[in-house]
Amino acid sequence: MLSQAEVREIRKEFPILTTKVGDKPLVYLDNAATTQKPRQVIEAEANYYLTANANPHRGAHKLANMATELYENCRRQVAKFLHAYRVNEIVFTKGATESLNLLAYTLAPRLEPGDEILISILEHHANLIPWQYIARERGAKLRYLYLDEKLELDWSDYLAKLNEQTKIVSLTACSNVTGTRPDLSKYFAKAKEFGAVCITDSTQLIPHAPFDVRELGADFAVCSSHKIYGPMGTGVLWGRYELLESMPPYHYGGDMIESVDEQSACFARPASRFEAGTVNVGGVVGLGAALDFVSEIGLENIDEYERHLTELALEAVAQIKGCQLFSVAGTSPAYLRGAVVPFSYEGIHPHDVATVLNEQGVAVRAGHHCAEPLHRHLGVNSTCRASFSFYNTEEEVERFIEALTAVPKLMGLR
Ligand code: PLP
Repeated sequence: MLSQAEVREIRKEFPILTTKVGDKPLVYLDNAATTQKPRQVIEAEANYYLTANANPHRGAHKLANMATELYENCRRQVAKFLHAYRVNEIVFTKGATESLNLLAYTLAPRLEPGDEILISILEHHANLIPWQYIARERGAKLRYLYLDEKLELDWSDYLAKLNEQTKIVSLTACSNVTGTRPDLSKYFAKAKEFGAVCITDSTQLIPHAPFDVRELGADFAVCSSHKIYGPMGTGVLWGRYELLESMPPYHYGGDMIESVDEQSACFARPASRFEAGTVNVGGVVGLGAALDFVSEIGLENIDEYERHLTELALEAVAQIKGCQLFSVAGTSPAYLRGAVVPFSYEGIHPHDVATVLNEQGVAVRAGHHCAEPLHRHLGVNSTCRASFSFYNTEEEVERFIEALTAVPKLMGLR
């Protein structure tokens, strides 16, 4: 496991982590919302603009060729990172949200009235609202898979809901609230027996653990660069090439065509078909640098260390009087969970808890974390969420717990 000395070395690469909140050093525990960026990522993006900026794919001059090469090298790098079958299975988007909208709109023509889309109650709104919209447009039905008492997906509920009408199954690889990490290969293998298209929202898994689209047996996976230490405004859609090739474009315009007549156009093959307009080369280059950064630490190491921090925090929060956890159950070292600690404090609004923690230098998130149906299902309106990265230390977990324990006192309540 990563030692505290190694973590302190890693932290030196993140200038923002030296921020002070008043006179207190920042403890950044909002990593599920966005991760901080290492110097390497900031420099890679800056360097692109300093030395290679041009509109790629369209020019014959030196800078345009450099921009094209950088962009396409990153596509190769992402393909390798995700274990894609082909490089052109990687489509760059603005983020996971755009990737999921792209899928909903381009898969919609396959849906007939009465068809079903199956998602889980764990889903982030990004993997929920596009399906609501498309289901309504096509007369299809949006169905939900619910949870067992441990907050795992309920396998028997899944078996009961899968049927010949299920055309799309879209499941999170890791919940941004409960930390549930379903065994998706089992879920997708079953869905394939019914011929459903299998999608995973892997936004919260890819930054924390090894990820292999082939092992999962998925058809599509999406993620966001900013959750994996890369720049905002960049995301990825991976899809099986045969499927991408059978799908219409999502956006129309420059760079996504083979040829254009006055009344019609012949569209380019994937991935260009889905990358209309000027692409975000700087963001993609930053993402490439971020993948180098995490690969150097090693995703197995990251997973092991972050689960260690998460388990320390979970055990300590469970001991605080008045705190209730909403985390997937199970605390053995082998237990797979996301690096999130969702909780509420009896009689204190989550926003007040987050505000008081901020005064102690601790950054956590409060609200429904873009998972309102899940919160309703859990019987609460909102929660607080601490979320961890490999750059967090054991001492930071202690500071978080100290501050959290003191919240009622700091509010003058008890
Ligand atoms: N899916 C999950 C599980 C998320 O946690 C998030 C962001 O919080 C998203 C999708 C959407 O990502 P973005 O806002 O970067 O598009």
